[in-house]
Amino acid sequence: MSLLCTSIHMDSAQGNFSPLKRFVVAKKKIGDVFEQLLEYVKEGSAFVEETCQNEALENIASRDQQEEIQAYAGKLQTIKDVLARRHMKVAFFGRTSNGKSTVVNAMLRDRVLPSGMGHTTNCFLSVEGTDANHAYLKTEGSEEEKSIKTVNQLGHALHMDESLDAGCLVRIFWPKTKCALLRDDLVLVDSPGTDVTTQLDSWIDNFCLDADVFVLVANSESTLMNTEKHFFHKVNEKLSKPNIFILNNRWDASASEPEYMEDVRKQHTDRCVNFLVDELKVMDREQAPNRIFFVSAKEVLNSRMQRAQGMPESGGALAEGFHERLKEFQSFERTFEECISQSAVKTKFEQHTIRAKQITETVKAIMDAINIEAAEKRVASLEDREYQMDRLEFVKNQLSLLIEDIKMKIKAITEEVESKVSSAMGEEICRLNVLIEEFHSDFQPSPHVLKLYKSDLLSHIEEGMGKNLAFRCSNAVNASLQSSQRDMIESMQPLLPPAVQSQIQTLVPSRKFDLSYNLNCATLCSDFQENIEFQFSMGWTALVNRFLGPTNAKRALMLVDRNFQLPRSIMTHSLSTTPSSGPSSVAVAHPQDAALSHEELMMSMATNLASLTSRTSMTVVIVGGVVCRTVGWRLIALSASMYGLLYLWEKLTWTTKAKEHALKRQFVDYATEKLQLIVRFTSANCSHQVQQEMATTFARLCQQVDLTQRELEGEISRLTAKVQTLETVQSHSKTLRHKATEFERQLEAFTDQYLNPHK
Ligand code: GDP
Repeated sequence: MSLLCTSIHMDSAQGNFSPLKRFVVAKKKIGDVFEQLLEYVKEGSAFVEETCQNEALENIASRDQQEEIQAYAGKLQTIKDVLARRHMKVAFFGRTSNGKSTVVNAMLRDRVLPSGMGHTTNCFLSVEGTDANHAYLKTEGSEEEKSIKTVNQLGHALHMDESLDAGCLVRIFWPKTKCALLRDDLVLVDSPGTDVTTQLDSWIDNFCLDADVFVLVANSESTLMNTEKHFFHKVNEKLSKPNIFILNNRWDASASEPEYMEDVRKQHTDRCVNFLVDELKVMDREQAPNRIFFVSAKEVLNSRMQRAQGMPESGGALAEGFHERLKEFQSFERTFEECISQSAVKTKFEQHTIRAKQITETVKAIMDAINIEAAEKRVASLEDREYQMDRLEFVKNQLSLLIEDIKMKIKAITEEVESKVSSAMGEEICRLNVLIEEFHSDFQPSPHVLKLYKSDLLSHIEEGMGKNLAFRCSNAVNASLQSSQRDMIESMQPLLPPAVQSQIQTLVPSRKFDLSYNLNCATLCSDFQENIEFQFSMGWTALVNRFLGPTNAKRALMLVDRNFQLPRSIMTHSLSTTPSSGPSSVAVAHPQDAALSHEELMMSMATNLASLTSRTSMTVVIVGGVVCRTVGWRLIALSASMYGLLYLWEKLTWTTKAKEHALKRQFVDYATEKLQLIVRFTSANCSHQVQQEMATTFARLCQQVDLTQRELEGEISRLTAKVQTLETVQSHSKTLRHKATEFERQLEAFTDQYLNPHK
């Protein structure tokens, strides 16, 4: 049936494909474009939203752009849905019984609508295609599908259904398989009859505003009625230049009076042309005759029905002029199809195509803006990164150069401090006797008081020497240390983080550097042992001491001790009387020294004899001996008494004061020797303190430089990531821009092909 239907339909279009296909194809095309455009806008919307939310991109895309593009997605979805429902609509008007239903049926090639039943219903009847295999109808306000068995049953049902309001719509769904016209998205609307209503306005508002073509079915047996004309005037008011066809139906009736036929036709044509051109002004006078046809719908329907059933077209008797009237009907159909397709494509798709173009253009502009913005930001970020990389390189190089420089400076200052402290200490050691002389405290030879005295003396030296050293060195050392630190900070300032650079003062050590000399005299001189026992300068021990020198005297006395079995206490005493004795001196009693031979001792004695003249006391003895031999015992007695007097004098002058003086003298010698030993150590210690101070400041600076480097590295990697994201954004926006251009091309092609085909 469907094949048959198609072949007949093709036949009606004189062997060509129906012009209605143009609408169908255009609808599919624009539908596809909209579907793709919707996907594209959704993709674009997601991209803009993502770009917008990425704070690192610093508003490359704005909220407005995001909202705009998002709104487009919604609009496109609506348009797409509207487009899918788009169809061509033809509405038939005319007085009751002019044959509107018959015309519709003839076009559909089937008795779809009831006809010849006179005033069937006050409702509009629309016929549209359905994919279902059976016909059914839906009344307005109900989704119920009422099946239609036969056309008579339909007519009867409509006639009987009192629930149907006047001017309502009954939609008849007819299987597409039965009719090619319906497959091509055509909807035919039959009206109740312009003579049955006064509600023309609501009719037009409800059913006519989206009609692509209006067909006025007139009765060729009478003239155009005012009710019919009035209706079209109303339509013309509401729509700009509606497409109107006038079918002068029942033309078969004119065949009974062929002699008047031409006159009647001319009369009708003139009136219709006047109506269309002069009254409605919907077309030119030249075009108007092409919209006026003289047909017999009844004949066409009958012949088509019979042909469909495999019977001869005429059903037997053929009225005169049937073929001409059939041809004219076919001609009407062709013209109508071309017109409705052309018009529907334009009216149904043009606005949407323009809207799609606008949307595409705006989206393209948004993508362009994002692309440009991303490109600019990318270039700026690259430059920024380049700058940060240069700076990092500079900081690294500069730091390694400065490290060497600062190391040398630290070395120089430590050496300077070391020599300064060393020479100051040397001078102080030389002045030690002055310092010791300045010391005054209770002095008693008793061990307890002596111990206290020595302890106070040590404190005095510690304090005094500390003060003197500080006086000599600290200020100079501090000044040079501070200047070095300042130099160091200044030279490293460009490498510090910007925040620190502005507060450079915080890097200068807040506490004052105080050089600590830490002589520690108490420990250093803890083993000092004074000798304040009376010792006669002409006594045995003193003489031996003078004669042999302190060292050999000890050895000699030890030998004497061994050979003459002297009591041990004497030896100890004699050793302890040596001013320079101490733990180190006691060590002289070591067995290896005991092996000293007599010869060695004698040699030493002989050697010391050579310097006899320089020793006044000894001279007296020797001279005494010689004099004794020469002068005799009187002189010896004199000498002895002088010796005794001398002893007495010395013994008497050995007062507490003298003892203190002796102790101080002994201490000066002792401490000088000890302090000299620690000169190097102390100066090294001081220079180490300075070095530590410098190193601490330097380490603090290096920490800050490290911070600068880490900040720069962080910044560089942040910029690298930003550049990458910007590149992605750039390429994505570029792709989307290209897609927009492609859509523009498609829409332009659609416009050229369907909307402005004759441009
Ligand atoms: P409507 O009320 O305008 O829908 O008119 P119908 O289609 O119902 O037709 C009314 C009557 O006129 C029916 O009996 C049809 O058979 C008849 N009729 C319709 N068209 C023609 C025609 O072209 N010639 C003749 N002779 N009768 C027709």
